Amino acid sequence: MQKNKGLYWFRHDLRVTDNASLNSLARNVESLLCIFVVDPRWFKPSHYQSAHMGKHRWRFLLESLQNLDEQLKERGQALVVDYGEPVSVIADYIEKHQIKHIACNFHSGVYERQQWQRIQIQFPQVEAATGEGHSLFFNSQLPVPLKDLPDTFTPFRKKVEDISIDRPMQAMDVFPSVLGETIKQWPETISKIGHDLESANNQSTDYPRLKGGADAARAQLDYYLFESDNITSYKQTRNGLDGWDFSSKLSAWLANGSISSKQVFHEIKRYESERTSNESTYWLYFELLWREYFYWYALKHDSQLFKIEGVRHKKPLTTFAPQRFAKWCSGNTPYPIVNACMNQLNATGFMSNRGRQLVASCLVHELSIDWRYGAAYFEQQLVDFDVGSNWGNWQYLAGVGADPRGHRQFNLEKQTQMYDPNGTFISKWNGASHSGPLDDVDYADWPISWQ
Ligand SMILES: Cc1cc2nc3c(=O)[nH]c(=O)nc-3n(C[C@H](O)[C@H](O)[C@H](O)COP(=O)(O)OP(=O)(O)OC[C@H]3O[C@@H](n4cnc5c(N)ncnc54)[C@H](O)[C@@H]3O)c2cc1C
Repeated sequence: MQKNKGLYWFRHDLRVTDNASLNSLARNVESLLCIFVVDPRWFKPSHYQSAHMGKHRWRFLLESLQNLDEQLKERGQALVVDYGEPVSVIADYIEKHQIKHIACNFHSGVYERQQWQRIQIQFPQVEAATGEGHSLFFNSQLPVPLKDLPDTFTPFRKKVEDISIDRPMQAMDVFPSVLGETIKQWPETISKIGHDLESANNQSTDYPRLKGGADAARAQLDYYLFESDNITSYKQTRNGLDGWDFSSKLSAWLANGSISSKQVFHEIKRYESERTSNESTYWLYFELLWREYFYWYALKHDSQLFKIEGVRHKKPLTTFAPQRFAKWCSGNTPYPIVNACMNQLNATGFMSNRGRQLVASCLVHELSIDWRYGAAYFEQQLVDFDVGSNWGNWQYLAGVGADPRGHRQFNLEKQTQMYDPNGTFISKWNGASHSGPLDDVDYADWPISWQ
């Protein structure tokens, strides 16, 4: 008799706990192949001069995969990490092992949805299932159809704030046996990719706890809530620029799914019932709602998320000045606070929310550059890149997205006085040093000074 074989495709749900799509596939098959596919295109420059994946997120991803593999092994499974165009890699495995059931976690990104559709079209006879593990709410819980999602955050929040959020699912104790004896095992495949762990081992000493994987995510959640009680002052500290304790630092684990937003939410609730609740404990949930908003925003607006005119269909006046862009990327502008933030990002893969707002405002308003270049550079550099949160926030800052005011220019001097009054942050990240004027040549490559 033909054995019931399943394939689970991990993407941005790198955990075994609270993973409904993995659990339900595992319950229905006798043998299982768990796979993650590294796409070579992630490392090549895109339309906006940046690659999809830079060294910080790559390092974090490899650590997350390693930890996922350990968690699977504890339960009788293992992770296969393969390399190639994802649809053809998955297709090869389906054919080679005569897979009957496939599943993955639903992804709100345009390309990721297309890939999943292509697999389903190619294999109509294979039973395909997805779970909604990246969001707090299920699509069916939204109070309005997706197409009627409010254009701005506040009405969205008011509509969803009281929706009940499912408890996270326990991990299964034992998974079905590993499918295929000769399949490539982690981490041999990765070492062939040429972006191996050693070359990725470039973690900044500033954020030693920013280590990939569900175990580190869990440890950080415990730390921020129960060990340090930092959550009780979150609202007052969240606009900080530097340091580990001013905000939760959960974004990178949430982005690749080492932890789910439901897990975070229910731990906030546990903290509130066992310790205390105040404006700050609520505010961490409030910020998770921002993440949620941009998750559904990405899904609703589809490829409009990446268009210059944004979801407002309002094309900003902009130009492209390569030298200015290069200076912004390398923290070499006339604006010390911007330089410090960019230097911090380049060294660590992290930048505070306040910092992100300031450098984005600078790129759009002071430098008049097309916001998509900034978004793409963030995509490359951020350890916590998330498609909806990044491109949605950039649209917001560029005045073509969800900002009801539509035009938000930060006064960089005033912001510096407010958030770095003693210049500690600028000095630590060497923000005051920059070379020459912003433009050595004019846009037509004509020298500005000719004596
Ligand atoms: C231009 C720009 C680009 C951004 N790109 C990303 C991105 O690629 N990935 C990402 O996760 N966040 C992004 N953010 C949002 C925010 O800056 C980060 O989530 C936050 O700084 C991460 O630090 P934290 O985990 O300590 O956040 P905390 O302040 O502790 O917040 C808790 C969680 O809430 C969510 N959150 C907080 N603020 C926002 C927000 N404005 N939008 C969406 N979710 C939010 C995050 O999941 C975060 O981990 C961006 C913001 C801006 C202005």
